[in-house]
Amino acid sequence: MAEIPGRARVVIIGGGVVGASVLYHLGARGWSDCVLLEKNELTAGSTWHAAGNVPTFSTSWGIMNMQRYSTELYARLGDDVDYPMNYHQSGSLRLAHSELRMQEFQRAAAMGRYQGMDIEILSPEETKARYPFLETHDLAGALYDPNDGDIDPAQLTQALAKGAREMGCAILRFTPATGVTQDGEGWIVHTEKGDIGCDYVVNAAGYYAQRVGEWFKPYGGRTVPMMVMSHQYLLSEEVPEVVAWSKENGRKLPLLRDVDVSYYLRQEKNGFNLGPYEPNCRAAWEDPGDPMPEDFSFQLYPDDLDRIEEIVTDAMERVPLLGTSGVSRVINGPIPYAPDGLPLLGPMPGVKNAFEACVFTFGIAQGGGAGKVLAEWIVDGATEWDMWAVDPRRYTDYTDHAYCVVKGMETYGNEYAMHFPWHEWPAGRDRKLSPVHDRVIAAGGVMGAYNGWERANWFAKPGDDTSLEATHTWDRSGPWEARIREECEAVRDHVGVLDLPGFSRFKVEGPGADEWLRGLVAGALPKLGRAGLVYFADHRGRIVTEMTVAREAEDLFILVTAASAQWHDRDWLTRHMPQDAGFTLTDWTDRMSTLIVTGPKSRDLMATLCDADLTLPWLSLQETEIAGGWAALVRLSFAGELGWEIHAETADMPAIHDAVIAAGAKPFGMYALNSLRLEKGYRAWKGDLSTDYSLLEGGLDRFVKLDKPQEFPGKAALMVEKQRGVSKRFVTLIVEAGEADAPYMSCLWHGDEIVGETTSGGWGYRVNASIALGMVRADLAVPGTELEVEIYGQKHRAVVQEDRPLWDPENERLRA
Ligand SMILES: Cc1cc2nc3c(=O)[nH]c(=O)nc-3n(C[C@H](O)[C@H](O)[C@H](O)COP(=O)(O)OP(=O)(O)OC[C@H]3O[C@@H](n4cnc5c(N)ncnc54)[C@H](O)[C@@H]3O)c2cc1C
Repeated sequence: MAEIPGRARVVIIGGGVVGASVLYHLGARGWSDCVLLEKNELTAGSTWHAAGNVPTFSTSWGIMNMQRYSTELYARLGDDVDYPMNYHQSGSLRLAHSELRMQEFQRAAAMGRYQGMDIEILSPEETKARYPFLETHDLAGALYDPNDGDIDPAQLTQALAKGAREMGCAILRFTPATGVTQDGEGWIVHTEKGDIGCDYVVNAAGYYAQRVGEWFKPYGGRTVPMMVMSHQYLLSEEVPEVVAWSKENGRKLPLLRDVDVSYYLRQEKNGFNLGPYEPNCRAAWEDPGDPMPEDFSFQLYPDDLDRIEEIVTDAMERVPLLGTSGVSRVINGPIPYAPDGLPLLGPMPGVKNAFEACVFTFGIAQGGGAGKVLAEWIVDGATEWDMWAVDPRRYTDYTDHAYCVVKGMETYGNEYAMHFPWHEWPAGRDRKLSPVHDRVIAAGGVMGAYNGWERANWFAKPGDDTSLEATHTWDRSGPWEARIREECEAVRDHVGVLDLPGFSRFKVEGPGADEWLRGLVAGALPKLGRAGLVYFADHRGRIVTEMTVAREAEDLFILVTAASAQWHDRDWLTRHMPQDAGFTLTDWTDRMSTLIVTGPKSRDLMATLCDADLTLPWLSLQETEIAGGWAALVRLSFAGELGWEIHAETADMPAIHDAVIAAGAKPFGMYALNSLRLEKGYRAWKGDLSTDYSLLEGGLDRFVKLDKPQEFPGKAALMVEKQRGVSKRFVTLIVEAGEADAPYMSCLWHGDEIVGETTSGGWGYRVNASIALGMVRADLAVPGTELEVEIYGQKHRAVVQEDRPLWDPENERLRA
């Protein structure tokens, strides 16, 4: 058995498929002095009993990238490391019971083709031709993914481990990690056999990740947001027809997923493997009286067939052959779930030089890509693809145990559900409420959750259908449409008010704050008494985040950023703070709240509420009193009209809000705001603004000062890019859309070629047009260029617009 090394560059805790893949990819990057600790034998956690399905399908660009990469890796891994494996790329059929489902497939297929995969959309007849044992009379069609298939999870893990060892990495089995101690910038990982000092540590402990995560709490960590589900699959006895088909065709049957019923069915050797995701599902170890055992290595739960009976019956009607054989074995094992069912992969929130690669629900499919992604985080400090979808910092402090359990169960029970653009999942709501939540609800607010904060998406009138069923559409129209239009028109013609709790807010104060921020942002800082937009880039010049900076004194700044960016941006700022900083950074998010008051009559309205100088210009900053409470007024509007943001202490907000409403402002919601900002070409974080693009590609040149003396992150890369010219460029498009506007990551076509993608889209009610923001090959980013955008399988004419806002191009209204 290997000796405990005194030192390693990286220590990975957990030897499932994910830990092994991280180790393999670190080794491949030349980081051979890395160690993996496994408390039992490799694969002892969820990995050993996984069904081993390896899909690429996703409607998330990042997840699809990760899964596609896995399939490419698995196809060559056996040869690369000389460890033959059972990996069958049998292809898969994903069945659609409705046209809505076909639209979802069309969207994913387009994304897949953009990633170079040969995904097909099939009619029921074509589906039957690929799977003769299938009942297709009630199907709308299917998606065929030739890359899909199954792999032996244990062989995969062993192959990754072999490759890693051969590159010089060490794997210590039967060596539980027992704790960690921070040691300067690095760590000491304690084991039962001795300590290992290291620069970086990775929590890859699968369903034990919360337990391991506790060790990081003294160093700024939090409770890992997760729960565990019990998930089963059934193996059938041999089915002679399957054997005969396989023999005749020289391959396995394609993997089936009946997503509208919620199960997969695939050929396992000479029979079937049926895996349901049942709505009537079971959380494991969720009761404090029934905690997770200290060690559950290579164990299973008892069979629990009752809860999957309905799905099994349905599957036997779909593939009657299934009913001809008995069940030979049931596997019921633990599967970890983050609230949204996506893993935690990336920097550990609040803790320097610690990472997470855990809570994988589809770790066999995602493990390969996850290893690549985490190795990039550790070695390069940044990833090739924007991976916000799985970034652990997407969750903040609202994810307690009860939340994780109800969300995990909701996600599991809807594992294959469609994610409609107007739909808000109902479980785990009301985690964080605005100080005027009751008023927003009373006014008809139909709510959505933003980093746990409840905000109105739109305001319903009596009689409007606010049911969840009404949101089951990809189309623009629905009960909300007329209301969004009215809200936008109120902002255009009169004055609207948006209650915006949970804006992330950081106060930076003290000597040196100015110089520090100057060295961190790509552009200029606002002058005293002013506010401005600033952008932060990584070392490649890619867009990390955007903040509004209000300068209250020479060395006092308030940084305001998206609700969902709270921990991401906090960590970005704190990690760049010098150790001996003379200034402090404080998170004021929970202390303050914000109202946006905007529209051509907003000055008249504000004049009745306060004696502030409302003639101060665009981007000015001042303090005032409204309804007896202190307030900071910032003259800007994400809606692109004359307007002010009112920032006030949470306790004062109800009175201020009531005064604004009494003065005649009409409440508007997040959907209206999205429409209004699209018309101004204002970018949204993690759609239009992501690490997939550089600041220059993003068209943010005027926020980049390459001639300033400070060496801000990304400056050198941006200088090179500036000289060389960008390869793609941000554009605004007017789309001749049909019923639906372009969602994120719709393909942009020029003739027969995909030349870019949308980053967001929607209807503009002031300009009365469908708008898409996107990235296109630089030579085509010329006003008037005719493209096509593929929306749910249909191509629509899209014309590149001038590089200026569609609404109020000269910004006269907001400067009025
Ligand atoms: C029935 C079932 C079917 C499934 N089917 C599929 C499928 O078809 N496709 C798919 O993609 N996914 C599937 N999954 C999910 C898949 O099994 C997991 O996502 C995957 O195995 C997670 O891998 P991991 O490496 O993150 O975690 P694990 O495999 O759980 O590995 C974590 C490891 O950490 C070790 N560990 C924990 N604490 C310590 C410590 N203190 N010190 C040292 N080591 C420690 C554990 O012993 C364990 O070996 C299925 C799951 C179940 C239950």
